[in-house]
Amino acid sequence: MIIQLSKNISSTAKSNLLNTLNDLQIKSNEVKTQFQDYIIGIPKTDFDIRNIGNMEGITDIHRVSDAYKLVSKKWKTNRTIIDLGDNVTIGGKDLAIMAGPCSIENEEQIENTVQHLLKNNIKIMRGGVYKPRSSPYAFRGLGMDGLKLFYKHCSENGIKVITEVMQVSQVEEMVDYVDIFQVGARNSQNFNLLDILGKVDNPVLIKRGMSGTIEELLASAEYVFSNGNEKILLCERGIRTYENAYRNTLDLNAIPILKAKSHLPVIVDPSHGIGLREHVATMALAGVVAGADGVIVEVHEQPEKAFSDGQQTLYYEQAEDLYRKARSLNSALK
Ligand code: PEP
Ligand code: MN
Repeated sequence: MIIQLSKNISSTAKSNLLNTLNDLQIKSNEVKTQFQDYIIGIPKTDFDIRNIGNMEGITDIHRVSDAYKLVSKKWKTNRTIIDLGDNVTIGGKDLAIMAGPCSIENEEQIENTVQHLLKNNIKIMRGGVYKPRSSPYAFRGLGMDGLKLFYKHCSENGIKVITEVMQVSQVEEMVDYVDIFQVGARNSQNFNLLDILGKVDNPVLIKRGMSGTIEELLASAEYVFSNGNEKILLCERGIRTYENAYRNTLDLNAIPILKAKSHLPVIVDPSHGIGLREHVATMALAGVVAGADGVIVEVHEQPEKAFSDGQQTLYYEQAEDLYRKARSLNSALK
């Protein structure tokens, strides 16, 4: 059960409410986000909602039977739109495109990518500075020095930055240089990281874990929301299956299912999803048809020289063709 509290609820009304919940054997969890105050009630047994519904200080009350509550579509009829400022939004009618290299490599590469994005009217640049790599000997990112350069060039050009945060201790140093925090597939259930990302105001894109179910992804999003941050994006990036003809199995089914279960925007990542450059654009378009609100895609001026994930990274020309098709497909569908 989700109880939405009125902004000016008195402390007496609130303690009356908490006492009533306690009497009804409903465990209450207080949630305060950047937008609203809630109480999430977890009942032990069935109860009569009318006992609570007309108490003082409540604006609305909803029964939500799902294991996740605040990210469920059952209580929120309007879909969430993430506002990044400067007229950049995710989740509305327009398709959000986030493009850039797998890893930030040097200043020249950042400048070059920014020009590519500006030319194509793309407002969000991706790029990792802390890279989760299977081998400890692989390139692991430029860290904060790289992020500062990345953010400088993007903010000077009206472009928003999305980058991966790998651990709790990085959040504070990164927060001023990031427009969207990305939680990688390997950290999808790092609950300490999710807790702390609930305490910032920046939007958080959560990737599905490579062996994570849809419900687990939604539960991860619930961690962020219930800690105070409503600005969440869900990302399907492929799961690990027995198939080895490609890198991961992009679960396109997850897109309409997530949209049916949650009010949060859904982003498709075809680059990690299939992992093969020649098929990335096709799968991106398939994601748009499946209902994705946005696409996150790896591009590089010279993918064969990329420090990571070159095999799945698009050349600029291929990417431009994709942006055009994805946008026209999106407007034909919406
Ligand atoms: C990435 O976006 O470069 C990345 C490492 O993604 P994932 O967490 O989906 O593997
Ligand atoms: Mn990558």
